[in-house]
Amino acid sequence: MKNTLILFTFIFLFSFTTQGQGLLTEKNNFTHQDTLRGTITPEREWWDLTYYHLDVKIAPETKSISGKNTIQYKVLKPYAEMQIDLQEPLKITKVVQNGEELNVRKDGNAHFITLTEAQKKGSIQFIDVYYEGQPKEAVRAPWDGGFTWSEDKNGIPFIATSCQGLGASVWWPNKDHMYDEVDSMLISVNVPKNLTNVSNGKLRSTEKHSDNTVTSNWFVSNPINNYGVNVNIGDYVHFSEVYEGEKGPLDMDYYVLRDNLVRAKNHFKDAPRMIEAFEHWFGPYPFYEDGFKLVEVPYLGMEHQSSVTYGNQYKKGYLGNDITGSGWGLKFDFIIIHESGHEWFANNITYKDMADMWIHESFTNYSESLFVDFFYGKEASSEYVIGSRKNIRNDSPIIGSYNVNKEGSGDMYAKGGNMLHTLRQLIEDDEKWRQILRGLNKTFYHQTVTTKQIEDYLSEHSGIDLTAFFNQYLRDIRIPTLEYIIENNELKYRWINIVSNFDMPIQVTFDDKKQWIYPNAEWKLTPIEGDTIEVDPNFYIEIKKL
Ligand SMILES: [Zn+2]
Repeated sequence: MKNTLILFTFIFLFSFTTQGQGLLTEKNNFTHQDTLRGTITPEREWWDLTYYHLDVKIAPETKSISGKNTIQYKVLKPYAEMQIDLQEPLKITKVVQNGEELNVRKDGNAHFITLTEAQKKGSIQFIDVYYEGQPKEAVRAPWDGGFTWSEDKNGIPFIATSCQGLGASVWWPNKDHMYDEVDSMLISVNVPKNLTNVSNGKLRSTEKHSDNTVTSNWFVSNPINNYGVNVNIGDYVHFSEVYEGEKGPLDMDYYVLRDNLVRAKNHFKDAPRMIEAFEHWFGPYPFYEDGFKLVEVPYLGMEHQSSVTYGNQYKKGYLGNDITGSGWGLKFDFIIIHESGHEWFANNITYKDMADMWIHESFTNYSESLFVDFFYGKEASSEYVIGSRKNIRNDSPIIGSYNVNKEGSGDMYAKGGNMLHTLRQLIEDDEKWRQILRGLNKTFYHQTVTTKQIEDYLSEHSGIDLTAFFNQYLRDIRIPTLEYIIENNELKYRWINIVSNFDMPIQVTFDDKKQWIYPNAEWKLTPIEGDTIEVDPNFYIEIKKL
């Protein structure tokens, strides 16, 4: 079956039967290739990644890449076939283990390598995967990624990779599934000598060659996800500082185009501000050993681990715009704050399956308002997160489709951020909320996780059963609506547009007093003297007065 391309059609039925409403149907067409890409296949699950040495030559004049990836792994159980992914038009030219060239069976982007040596349980093995070709060019980086081959204003090559979603196998051969992160990685990149390559981690060494090229060796000493690995090549200049953080001195390095040095030195002051705010809320920066870098690129930006890429044109906000309309969005550079927020939620705590991408984006979206909270106060932060609601579409659920590498709705950003802000109201204790956010980063330090693990942690540590809460906001598109009527000195209220068992309390001001009410699907009554109520706008809900 693996040799033939079969189109599988999955029909996903999201069915929540509350008061007889809310049947949502979403149809998706997934291919055999999506399944190979998105599933922990038998050819993946028997081995545990321990180390990569990616060693490549990048030639700007031919827009090509060639080299090899040495993959070190631990055998979890004996098996004779290994899946390695590499996307067309790149080609695997040779696979070698212990000096012997191995047979490779290609099935689209998946390559099944037949191992001839016994794979003993617990043993550590190496395999060399050689490859070459002209990789896919990014159409609209970073969203439709690949290689971006551009030039700076001086006509010097300015090159970068981006591959979230699409997968790192668009430019190098690897185990392209998020569940298994490599423990450490050496990235060796050979480029023409007038250029500098910047990758993840720390620069270990640079070698000049007689053919007018230079190789830089970057070492990442912490687990890293595949899409976090990147090369950035250009006429870079470098400056740095040391930040005294929670875990001691943190090296912060900045690589920008030569002409941008002066403005970068001023503009990148947001970087230490970011570390200060996020260490407060989330705990220590998760990769002290690898340092933190901002690296200028020819596209908007991406959360590449310990080398966050930057292309926001040295403007405040999102390319100069406040996407919340609150005014607070122009107090900082959106890309520096958002992409760096991902060091905690994406790079430290990483989804196992792309369907759970909200773990990256909802928390990171919310990190923007926590940055505002840290420097401008709680009210400013509320205005920011409430302002972001105009970007919510409620088109499809935040959680995507499992085992086919398919993320959910773009609502994982603003709606996810508002969901977390709503949860903060329920917890009603900002210090407890902060300890929960720090606890997540400590408990799931350098791990890949599922939505269930995050949901369970939040329920346990908030002391609130959040099952229905997450079903409502992550798995349904309906916004819980408080329906109410005031008559005969009674406030009558209930939730509509909800999943089963949704009974979130909310804070409401009436009769000059702010108080909790506890609606559920049934009508409830409470005495009221006046004829108006005001629902706390921090809760992401809708209100319908009858
Ligand atoms: Zn993001």
